[in-house]
Amino acid sequence: MRIVKFGGTSVGSAYHIKKLVNLIDVNKRTLFVFSAIGGITNMLADFIYQSKLGEKEICQHTFLRIREIHFRVITELFSSKNYKQIAESKVEESLKLLSYYSNHRITEKAEKEILVQGELISCSIIYLYMLEHEMDVAYIPALRFMFTDKYKEPNYLKITEKLTKELSKYNGCKLFITNGYICQNYKRQTDNLNRGGSDYTATIIGNVLRASIIEIWTDIDGLQNNDPRYVENTFPIRNLSYEEASELAYFGAKILHPLCIIPAQRAKIPIALKNTMSPDDQGTTISEYAISKGIKAIAVKDGITAIKVKSARMMQAYGFLRRIFEVFEKFKTPVDMLTTSEISVAMTIDNNAYLEPIITELCNLGEVEIDQNQSIICIVGNFNDNRNISIQSITDGLGNIPVHMISFGASKINISFLIDTTNKIEALNLLNQHIFRHHLCSINIQ
Ligand code: ASP
Ligand code: MG
Repeated sequence: MRIVKFGGTSVGSAYHIKKLVNLIDVNKRTLFVFSAIGGITNMLADFIYQSKLGEKEICQHTFLRIREIHFRVITELFSSKNYKQIAESKVEESLKLLSYYSNHRITEKAEKEILVQGELISCSIIYLYMLEHEMDVAYIPALRFMFTDKYKEPNYLKITEKLTKELSKYNGCKLFITNGYICQNYKRQTDNLNRGGSDYTATIIGNVLRASIIEIWTDIDGLQNNDPRYVENTFPIRNLSYEEASELAYFGAKILHPLCIIPAQRAKIPIALKNTMSPDDQGTTISEYAISKGIKAIAVKDGITAIKVKSARMMQAYGFLRRIFEVFEKFKTPVDMLTTSEISVAMTIDNNAYLEPIITELCNLGEVEIDQNQSIICIVGNFNDNRNISIQSITDGLGNIPVHMISFGASKINISFLIDTTNKIEALNLLNQHIFRHHLCSINIQ
């Protein structure tokens, strides 16, 4: 079985949906995972926000806009009146919730139900379109098998049992559709796998079914060597190991959900990142074989806060780090980067929700300094056979940009620098030239 996931922009319009259905090979056993139509989940989140503020008119406006986007896709997609009508009534049915909560106090349960309507609608539309094209396809709603436990982790045993049972109902059928992002939590309520979670759906299913491949289709030609939003002349990386891809997914490369690598890695299933707009392009393959050596990519993560705790008590003492980390544990805030000296510890966090109480408690342990608006530049590659890598060969690339923290040595695939966000674009461009100049020259010569 192959798992093939199409995300936001690749299901962004009738044109895109037609294009992707054209790509389907009806002879290969495939389970398709679809996200909501591009932009819809953001609008649903806006709707919830507006509804909480009691902004009835704005809510109504957002609701109508969501309806209109889907209706336009339907009009452009279907040729038969019958399918068009069924699709429209599916949209109306899904959007009843929004219509109701434009005027009523929204509950936590309703919020979760609203957030997943995008995936419910997109799957219904694409399923109907495939039926209109006489494809033999079965729609298995994710709520029937995608269960999570009380830690919000996939419940693999239950997913395997339920999904296998669902699939066995359709003997002989080769094509299946399901919703990305949607799950049922341990309280048996509708829930989701967090924003961008359709990738995670695809790899969880891939793991459970021991798929031969997991394809993730987007609108970009694979993972790029640098952030195309800030750097010109980026190029796709052809091969990445699971570890390298996880680092990149976490550090800014928005194309993949950060957790989605784990299920594929555990079952050693390759992930292929492909581009719907140019399907013949090679894209990026993520697998256990990291073929080339050296530096592969640079990524950036913004919104970082650096926290430094200084205390003479730390000198020659043990247990000090534990006490610091207990504070972060208490406020469920993960630490990303970490450096220590004899009398101080510096670390970074990317979630400031509990910054104030964290500072208050850390002040009991020492003098605390905070730096906000920081960015982590992360250089990812396969440094396994490169024990003699000269850190200077990389730091030289940063020119005169002040570096506040460096993390190197914990893993063989990552070197990270903390800098002011104001210097981010310059740093990314300088490093691009410095690290990839040979590659960039060869692109220019071609
Ligand atoms: N539609 C969801 C989101 O926008 C899930 C996904 O696209 O992967 O976050
Ligand atoms: Mg995504």
